[in-house]
Amino acid sequence: MADRYLHLTGTAPGRFLTRRLGLPQPAPLRRWTLETPHLDGPLLHLTAGTPTVTGVAEALRTSGLTVTERADRPAAIVLDATGVATAAGLGDVHAALHPVVRSLAPGGRIVVLGTVPSPDDHHQAAAQQALEGFVRSLGKEIGRGSTVQLVRIPVARIPGGASAHAAGSTLRFLLSPRSAYVSGQVIELTSDAPDPGSDPVADPAAPLTGRTALVTGAARGIGAAVASVLARDGARVIALDVPGAREELERTADRLGATALPLDITAPDAADRIAAAAPDGLGVLVHNAGITRDRRLANMPADRWASVIEVNLDSVLRTTDELLKAGTIPRGGRIVATASIAGIAGNTGQTNYAASKAGIIGLVRSLGPRAAADHGVTVNAVAPGFIETKMTAAVPLFIREAGRRMNSLSQGGLPVDVAEAVAWFAQPDSTAVNGQVLRVCGQSLLGA
Ligand code: NAD
Repeated sequence: MADRYLHLTGTAPGRFLTRRLGLPQPAPLRRWTLETPHLDGPLLHLTAGTPTVTGVAEALRTSGLTVTERADRPAAIVLDATGVATAAGLGDVHAALHPVVRSLAPGGRIVVLGTVPSPDDHHQAAAQQALEGFVRSLGKEIGRGSTVQLVRIPVARIPGGASAHAAGSTLRFLLSPRSAYVSGQVIELTSDAPDPGSDPVADPAAPLTGRTALVTGAARGIGAAVASVLARDGARVIALDVPGAREELERTADRLGATALPLDITAPDAADRIAAAAPDGLGVLVHNAGITRDRRLANMPADRWASVIEVNLDSVLRTTDELLKAGTIPRGGRIVATASIAGIAGNTGQTNYAASKAGIIGLVRSLGPRAAADHGVTVNAVAPGFIETKMTAAVPLFIREAGRRMNSLSQGGLPVDVAEAVAWFAQPDSTAVNGQVLRVCGQSLLGA
């Protein structure tokens, strides 16, 4: 179901009318295309206080943007606030961004670099936590399709200080059109990054070359978009979906040059069948398959409860455990699961679904560090907000309209927005991104 309101506000009379009525003004988002892979303009690099990390300028150059310390109309602004350790130091954040925030080009990006709030220094912790409130508020007020995020660079355990080197893939993603529907997020990089165990990226345009990626629920919707973006990035893709969706699955797989694997993920031998389909191992495993069986708890029979927990959570736990144990996911491997903002905010009629999706968040946070230590594998999740798919097209009109507008970008996301976030987790140099749950929700008001 197309977003007619977004279309209306893109016309001159529609814009006039909706402005007069004080209605939301969603800006069309520019997403990645082969012809326009980068933001259109320079990157303004600013600092607040004395930075505590090295290598920021080098990491920023990997964004493909021209990095400068002065720009009239920047497409992106990165503020290094790693050195802000006191309440007074927050004044430097204001001083750096206040004069330039208005000059940011439409569809621009602001990334604040911070560090992890210290358990031993409550002044530093207060100042660094303050950046979170700052970023979330600026995300709400910036408008014109621009986004604002906070990236925390961990304090180094090694002599020589912290380095922004590990932030490269994250900055490339956030400072590009690929992160169009991600705003108001806090990403905390880890210093316990597993050994990548893989060769350096030979082809930056196809960083997943040589890796096999399996995507569950890939016949349609978000899963099909994930399969498509991972194939674009060079992966050999195995697209899995229920045997009942075989025709749609085969059509999707053919289109992408992927292999179709008709399989119900809840089958007791699902992990064995997946391992058999990937004899050379799985560099990327994306748990995307999911179902809803909505009812208020008082009206919910046990089978509706059980089927949602089974598909959305239990099968994810089971296949992950079995594939890790069998060594199907080699060092440098990436596991990405799919949560939902319903798992963060809760939703009427979705006690089963929200429980399953909150369970995914628990899984990722607990397993991430251990999978890194034991297997050299990262485990992360996307938490989509309102994404335009068959699932949301079935939502009643008024609830659908509310879902679309109740976020900082005043529109729903597209499946490709979730897929780009999955691809960021999957990058070979995303080793420092682990145990994270990234909301792809346009900074939804729900659970904020
Ligand atoms: P969708 O219903 O369009 O697609 C889900 C796919 O999963 C289908 O092709 C389905 O056949 C497959 N599937 C279901 N059960 C399966 C099983 N047992 N084994 C194998 N495949 C199975 O849904 P979507 O909107 O693309 O959602 C994809 C994921 O994103 C789901 O996990 C969903 O919960 C999550 N999500 C979606 C939204 C949204 O707004 N669309 C928001 C938050 C989270």
